[in-house]
Amino acid sequence: MSEQAIRAVWLYPELMNVYADRGNVIALRARCAEHDVECEVEHLELAGELPDDADLVLIGGGQDREQRRVAPDVQRHAARLREWHEGGVAFLAVCGGFQLFGDGYRTARGEELPGVGLFDVTTVAPPPGAERCVGDVLAETDLDGIGEVVGFENHAGRTYLGPGVRPFARVHHGWGNNGVDGTEGAVAGSALGTYLHGSLLPRNPRVTDWLIAAALRHRYGPEASTADAPPEGAYAARARAAAATAARERGRTPAD
Ligand code: GLN
Repeated sequence: MSEQAIRAVWLYPELMNVYADRGNVIALRARCAEHDVECEVEHLELAGELPDDADLVLIGGGQDREQRRVAPDVQRHAARLREWHEGGVAFLAVCGGFQLFGDGYRTARGEELPGVGLFDVTTVAPPPGAERCVGDVLAETDLDGIGEVVGFENHAGRTYLGPGVRPFARVHHGWGNNGVDGTEGAVAGSALGTYLHGSLLPRNPRVTDWLIAAALRHRYGPEASTADAPPEGAYAARARAAAATAARERGRTPAD
């Protein structure tokens, strides 16, 4: 019987789920089981209601079409999500989800999709026909000793960080937030935004651990921890090594 439990909310699994983002939820459940932490995942779709409380919120990526559909619904929940964030709830927002959790996203057609404002970032898509930021990514983060992270990115939007946020990682191979400043994603308190699909969590168990630890702190207080974390499985280590090799061989170098 697990002594600890976390409640996660997965936003728009039907619409915001590309490049295997649902694997993040599968990996979260699996890693929680390894930590002997119970993990309950509630789904929220368009026009749904947030539960009264949560420890972790997940949102994946989507193309502009899906973002246009969910953006007004996200705004319905924005005040509550910001309140949760201020209260220490953990967040993982990937790609299109990351864009919608920043200050806003201007699409290639010039529409302004409002954001939740968790991350002090703005995203602007270049005019249609401009090069997309696509490929394997190898980056390095100083977040809690996580180190190397791998993933796959595919986005038109270029994200620029404001002073109120720090990058999640520095890109060694890949485009990252905008292809210019070498940054990847953003961290604001217990919220992590990133362009990394792949999915992210199955190949980067330390990132999963960071999210679980933040969720446990939200639920049980600052002393909560996962005690003796089991080492990542051989499968995750192999998957990460393969992705790192792909990024080294095929990924764009920031100077390209
Ligand atoms: N629509 C966004 C863009 O292209 C996000 C894409 C995604 O989530 N993969 O910038």
